[in-house]
Amino acid sequence: MTRLLGVYGAGGCGRTVMAFLRDANPGVECVFIDDAPLAPTANGHAVVTWDRFLAMPGDRQVCVAIARSALREALALKSAAAGVVWAGCIARQALVLDGAQLGAGAIISPFATIGANVVAGRGALVDLYACVNHDCRLGDFVTLAPYANVNGNVDIGDHAYIGSGALIRQGQPGKPLVIGRGAVVGMGAVVTHDVAAGVTVVGNPARPIVKG
Ligand code: UDP
Repeated sequence: MTRLLGVYGAGGCGRTVMAFLRDANPGVECVFIDDAPLAPTANGHAVVTWDRFLAMPGDRQVCVAIARSALREALALKSAAAGVVWAGCIARQALVLDGAQLGAGAIISPFATIGANVVAGRGALVDLYACVNHDCRLGDFVTLAPYANVNGNVDIGDHAYIGSGALIRQGQPGKPLVIGRGAVVGMGAVVTHDVAAGVTVVGNPARPIVKG
């Protein structure tokens, strides 16, 4: 049976991913899946609803390409519940170095680097030019915006978000710098210390946003 690849999400993230997913899967029919389609096609690919996708012939796989990590998780679970394989994509122009391990559904964009012995959980989204250096651990559904720069031995919890151009200081073997679950690092922030779970930090040096 012919292969059919659906990029879930026809927004900015999905249209970016389609451009390199197609390149990494020559000869495979690639469509967008979107629950609120704005047009019948986007960049030359059909945009179909989930139900329509499930009715299309072919050996179906889904790549969930939406920046919000909670949506990535929800749609990955929905795909699994429907028995559709959840696919990731490593761009041809990305670098994945020795010993790196990527979980299911990971998206590694062009010019991103995954350093030696990095271990990433499920559903990581590493955007254009982002870099995760050696021995880092990424939990599930971690998101790195373009040009985010994570030095070696950093531990990033599930659903954390690292903004564009942020810099994260190197940790040490056995004593990683820790970005907690669901933490947000603002764009351009320079992180020199651990960030607690759920906390948003901004600036240089990065400090928590004080609400109120
Ligand atoms: N979307 C969807 N199902 C969902 C949630 C989102 O199809 O359950 C689609 C939504 O309609 C939109 C896209 O995902 O077209 C997300 O695009 P957006 O530009 O908001 O975010 P980004 O692409 O930057 O992650």
